[in-house]
Amino acid sequence: MTLVYQSTRDAQNQVTASQAILQGLATDGGLFTPLTMPKVHLDFSQLKTASYQEVAMLVLSAFLDDFTEEELAYCINHAYDDKFDTSIIAPLVKLEDHYNLELFHGSTIAFKDMALSILPYLLTTSAKKQGVDNKIVILTATSGDTGKAAMAGFADVPGTEIIVFYPKGGVSKIQELQMTTQAGDNTHVVAIEGNFDDSQTDVKRMFNDLKLREKLLSHQMQLSSANSMNIGRLVPQVVYYVYAYAQLVKSGDIQNGDEINVTVPTGNFGNILAAYYAREIGVPIHKLICASNENNVLTDFFNTGIYDKKREFKITSSPSMDILVSSNLERLIFHLLGNDADKTEALMEDLVNQGEYKLEPVRPEILDLFAAGFASEQDTRAEITRVYRQSHYIEDPHTAVASAVYQGYKNKTTDQTPTVIASTASPYKFPRVAVEAVTGTDTGDDFKAVQKLHELSGVAIPKAVSGLETASVRHKTVVAIADMQQAVEDYLGV
Ligand SMILES: *Cc1c(COP(=O)(O)O)cnc(C)c1O
Repeated sequence: MTLVYQSTRDAQNQVTASQAILQGLATDGGLFTPLTMPKVHLDFSQLKTASYQEVAMLVLSAFLDDFTEEELAYCINHAYDDKFDTSIIAPLVKLEDHYNLELFHGSTIAFKDMALSILPYLLTTSAKKQGVDNKIVILTATSGDTGKAAMAGFADVPGTEIIVFYPKGGVSKIQELQMTTQAGDNTHVVAIEGNFDDSQTDVKRMFNDLKLREKLLSHQMQLSSANSMNIGRLVPQVVYYVYAYAQLVKSGDIQNGDEINVTVPTGNFGNILAAYYAREIGVPIHKLICASNENNVLTDFFNTGIYDKKREFKITSSPSMDILVSSNLERLIFHLLGNDADKTEALMEDLVNQGEYKLEPVRPEILDLFAAGFASEQDTRAEITRVYRQSHYIEDPHTAVASAVYQGYKNKTTDQTPTVIASTASPYKFPRVAVEAVTGTDTGDDFKAVQKLHELSGVAIPKAVSGLETASVRHKTVVAIADMQQAVEDYLGV
């Protein structure tokens, strides 16, 4: 029996794992979601000595059950290799009052690498399995992080081409250099004279442009998407929660069977949903703590059952969490409603038409698993300082949001369960904020801050940053919004 992935908005739209990965988003606008949880034999007395790749094989073969073991081994071995700066891939660091699961040891030093390093292989393998031999063309609008991580994943992967659009002047110096110096003959970067929403809107338009689709097909090409709605990004994130629990058993910090809490700095709700699935397949998790920054729409949702996006969009020092519509929450809603596609679709329509929806808690036992809180900008900086003083460890602003929210949770509930925080970015990715929080002085320049951060923390400067100042810029194209499609056609030669 293969696992059924169904659209959250249409009960008739059911596919296998590889079909879901190849399609990315369901054509009805919903998200492909597993209807049941696969049975996984999690024996932590054995798993504690398993490698990351072995845990990945266990989890992926359960969720992506129409792939063969050879296919998955190919994907896993090409993804989790020396692109990561540590062979253990996701180290678990013990601090005074929590554990940080460092998910930032891949090529772009943020947690998106955990899934985007394997997605290209899952996607091209899915195409092969479905008898599709078109070239897969990835179009991505990015506000900074996803575009780079997607390119790093797709660079030189046979049978793929990737084109990334970013808002000129709308990303940090380090982020821009990371993209414009990207290697790989199949990678293309375009700066847009417009903002992120403009380029996102035009990318979506291109996806739905029938003429463009036909033109590409006549050249044996088809578009696909690398965004976090693809289950090929979600499932690989379940792996590191299983792995983290095994490491805690191995170190003796917990006994096999003890419960842990997981705190996740949340934006699009992908990472924390993966933690929920890890619990569903048997990782003993007590609470899933959903941490937000000042864009605290999820905090309100978990506390009131009302999702209300009608509020000011705040720009914060944790930009990857600056989001008011958390796309992957739709999957949790679907489960909360007993996998009811009609009810889910109705709520999502309320969100579009009225800017909000109200949940009737049909399955409160799921809702009870979650706790939620948010950290202000001030709380976030204070937490970076506190953790540095207490543990001589510098957290990036996203991790610090989670860490601050966990402190609040612990003080309020007196819950003493050992807690793992998903540490989603290296402080070297946001060096000015981290240095300012610790020293009280803004260096005024990303590269100066990198040096200072190195002096303060003693942590080696990652390759992703060290070569940037001198790397040659390969991508210099700047186009108006109206010319985005022309740029795509030029790159692809169609
Ligand atoms: C994307 C991102 C997040 C948010 O993750 P979601 O899965 O979208 O909730 C948090 N921190 C960093 C550094 C990110 O890049």
